[in-house]
Amino acid sequence: MNCIFCNIEEPRIIDQDALFFVIRDGFPVTEGHSLFIPHRHAPTWFDLTTEEQTALSALLNKHKKLLQDADSTITGFNIGMNCGEDAGQTVMHCHVHLIPRRKGDMEDPKGGVRGVIP
Ligand code: 5GP
Ligand code: ZN
Repeated sequence: MNCIFCNIEEPRIIDQDALFFVIRDGFPVTEGHSLFIPHRHAPTWFDLTTEEQTALSALLNKHKKLLQDADSTITGFNIGMNCGEDAGQTVMHCHVHLIPRRKGDMEDPKGGVRGVIP
């Protein structure tokens, strides 16, 4: 299949379990920006099984801690998913963004993910 996440280069994988793998985003919004991707090709979060959705939570929690243990400047996170082209999705293989945030990384962070529509 012509899908970049189905054909990810092995060295890019920083962690994985039975259902998901984790990579650093190739075009990071902030340092540490990570993507959580199911091994199975499913287009969006809504196409995942309940088992996959549950497994993702544990992996997100694990990497939230790993990122903060490695970098004490990380003081917050945005978790995001673009589900569908009209929501901005460009790679049609489900992936969840975990974006570390740091105090002062933008002038006024108020609203966070509400900023998807400026
Ligand atoms: P989205 O579908 O979430 O809007 O965007 C796809 C995400 O995959 C972007 O954040 C992009 O930076 C990321 N990404 C990570 N690795 C790659 C890669 O090798 N190629 C492309 N095109 N996007 C990548
Ligand atoms: Zn795929």
